[in-house]
Amino acid sequence: VRAQFRLSDLVPVELNVEAVHHCADAIFVDACGRSSDCRCPQCGKASRRVHSRYIRMITDLPCAGRRIELHLAVRRFVCDAAHCRRKFFAERFGDGVIRPIPVASP
Ligand SMILES: [Zn+2]
Repeated sequence: VRAQFRLSDLVPVELNVEAVHHCADAIFVDACGRSSDCRCPQCGKASRRVHSRYIRMITDLPCAGRRIELHLAVRRFVCDAAHCRRKFFAERFGDGVIRPIPVASP
């Protein structure tokens, strides 16, 4: 029985899937945030200035016996508000963004 792998179950609209790689026992998904800006958690000002990126690996997503590794590229933004004490902040995703996939029934 082929695993019913639906990418939409794993990756909601907040994320943009860039690549998917399959191998025998795992699926690798490269994704990044879709929004072009992000609000500073300190002052609330939206920023589009991306300072850097890092990869957050999310591996505890079993899918019908196959392991899923989500490689999420998290952007670090620059806050350019003059009065703000926070110079950089990482992009945030909602709690519901990453959720496990139900195992497909045979
Ligand atoms: Zn700020």
